[in-house]
Amino acid sequence: MSFINDFIEKVNNNSAAKVQHVTCKKCSHEDTMYNLIKNDYICPNCGYYFRLGARSRIGQICDWNSFHELHAGLTSRDFLEFPGYQEKLDKAMSTTKEEDAVVCGIGSVAGNEFATFVMDSKFIMASMGSVVGEKITRLFEYATEHKLPVIGFTASGGARMQEGVLSLMQMAKVSGAVKNHSNAGLLYITVLTDPTTGGVTASFAMQGDIILAEPNALVGFAGRRVVEQTTKSKLPDNFQSAEFLLEHGFVDAIVPRPELRDTLAELLTIHKRSV
Ligand SMILES: [Zn+2]
Repeated sequence: MSFINDFIEKVNNNSAAKVQHVTCKKCSHEDTMYNLIKNDYICPNCGYYFRLGARSRIGQICDWNSFHELHAGLTSRDFLEFPGYQEKLDKAMSTTKEEDAVVCGIGSVAGNEFATFVMDSKFIMASMGSVVGEKITRLFEYATEHKLPVIGFTASGGARMQEGVLSLMQMAKVSGAVKNHSNAGLLYITVLTDPTTGGVTASFAMQGDIILAEPNALVGFAGRRVVEQTTKSKLPDNFQSAEFLLEHGFVDAIVPRPELRDTLAELLTIHKRSV
């Protein structure tokens, strides 16, 4: 299902929704939600990229009605009885209507089939716990078995501290599945979105054969202040931006959101396996 088209259709039939207002965090420009969605969630005034929920991203990229979700139904548990974690999970599930911070499935773009995982920063800042790691691992295993390329949209505040070492081990677990997928000669593209940090950057976000990023996305491992204190040096203003990473060879291209769909379609076409 194309969620964006679905939403626009609903908005078209609902004049009240047309006047639902949103305010740009960067320039305080006010606009209707309808105009924002039509503009790919980019502020029409200053070009600020609003963060996308997983379903909105899927709606922007996938062909109409092509997305089928996989590995749904997995939800996190507070097995360490970490103070406040269960409440956080309940709140995130109720506000996002998602089961955890990643949505996985298969879809197509311009007729090219691919497997995808889309992280959702609206769910506890897309922190990586056991469920996120397990769903992405299963997606890679599915893609390897079915000989599909993987496109991963990363966003994360890092490993989910409320799950302790079990969240950290997801880095190794997913990386193993990525390696098996790579050994099968299959393509993996990552799209780094704002923000991609911590253990996700230190593992599968940077393991793509092709690494794309959205303009101005924050991408890094440790926070700026920690790096400055550790290295005792003053960092440039654009440190940990997608543009800085491109300059230093960590990113292959920065792709504006309106061009992302066509770029991915082209890359999948170029790398199509001959059967
Ligand atoms: Zn703006």
